[in-house]
Amino acid sequence: MIKAQRGTKDIFGEESYTWQWILNNAQNVFQNAGFQEIKTPIFEATELFARGVGDSTDIVNKEMYTFQVGGIEKNATSITLRPENTAGVVRAFIEHNIVRQSPPQKFWYFGPMFRYERPQAGRQRQFHQVGVEMFGIKEPSADAEVIMSAVEFLKSVGLDNLEVELNTLGCPKCKNDYRNSIKEILKPHLENLCDDCKMRYEKNPLRILDCKNEDCQKIFEIKEVKNVILNDYICDECKDHFDTLTKYLDDLGIKYQRNKLLVRGLDYYNRTVFEIKSSALGSQSAVCGGGRYDGLVEMLGGASTPAVGFAMGVERLFTLVEKQEAPKLDYFIVSTNTKEAIKLAQKLRQQNKKVEFDMQARKFAKQLEKASKIAKNAIILGEDEINQGFYSIKNLETGEQTKIEKFENLI
Ligand code: ATP
Ligand code: MG
Repeated sequence: MIKAQRGTKDIFGEESYTWQWILNNAQNVFQNAGFQEIKTPIFEATELFARGVGDSTDIVNKEMYTFQVGGIEKNATSITLRPENTAGVVRAFIEHNIVRQSPPQKFWYFGPMFRYERPQAGRQRQFHQVGVEMFGIKEPSADAEVIMSAVEFLKSVGLDNLEVELNTLGCPKCKNDYRNSIKEILKPHLENLCDDCKMRYEKNPLRILDCKNEDCQKIFEIKEVKNVILNDYICDECKDHFDTLTKYLDDLGIKYQRNKLLVRGLDYYNRTVFEIKSSALGSQSAVCGGGRYDGLVEMLGGASTPAVGFAMGVERLFTLVEKQEAPKLDYFIVSTNTKEAIKLAQKLRQQNKKVEFDMQARKFAKQLEKASKIAKNAIILGEDEINQGFYSIKNLETGEQTKIEKFENLI
């Protein structure tokens, strides 16, 4: 038997209702807040991710599904299944010159992402993200708008107790000073850092703070190291930005924790970074990650444009939300006259009713048994009903039966 690939999952049956419900809520909340849906391709040029996600990240170094297409004779090109969606949205933003529209330009998306990771609870190779990207606003109100949208969406699916962690990375200038201090303080400990962090030390030293390796964690506990890590290094402008953002969040009643070790996996963040977590998820606790990336559009060849966004893992959300049941049918048509039953089903569905009928003209008792499991009412269409032109309705919750003369009274 051919099976699904490791780290992938079929979604069907009861689960599909919960998925649809999550997606409907996302659409409502984000569209009400003025975000337009954007669907970008699932594969892009490898270079887009190498540059846009950053070549010091785990994603680019270890996790991408990259392959050559076209063969040697045709000058094979390298493409990659998208590991995340910010790079693709930014590519589209630049390609279609969306920058010319008046800001903000606000997008939301939903779709599969691909990362070659070790599958475990909350970690798959094909997983789904829902997220938003907003362009054109440098003010902290945009950061607040994006965080609020994430929090309101989570509330809409019944999750109002998740932990928001917040940090600021500063701007290129103050971030650079901080980088240098981190490098200096870690230099004597370089040998004891994990192999990944030895590599990060040169390419992206801030990422070291985010490392979960025990040896690295121990180094962060050393007093002098800790002092540098927790030192407030950000410049006045970045501090103002952060303070204004936190005031907005306070006014909105959004609780957050400052986490000075939060730096996030991707290379392109500046100023605000945030994560939303649930302790109910165990070690894969992050549901949502986001932040500001004012340099990315320019770095990928567009005009300098401030931007902020987030991405949420839908599978992780799925494990937290209350499961939705299949909605019951309005009617199940119980009839051995398939010709009449199918016509009635068509007419009722055209009136937006949820309706099924028995396609095999089985015995009434069998049909009623099925109907009582999946429908609110049965329409009984026996020979009397058909000949005399009326409908018998059985309410499958109360058992009460009524006679309805006109089709209009069914809708
Ligand atoms: P993690 O530290 O858990 O690997 P990340 O920093 O790689 O997360 P992001 O790139 O920020 O994750 O993606 C945003 C969200 O997407 C995560 O918070 C998580 O909910 C989800 N996510 C990321 N990778 C996976 C995966 N392999 N399987 C399922 N969900 C994932
Ligand atoms: Mg990861």
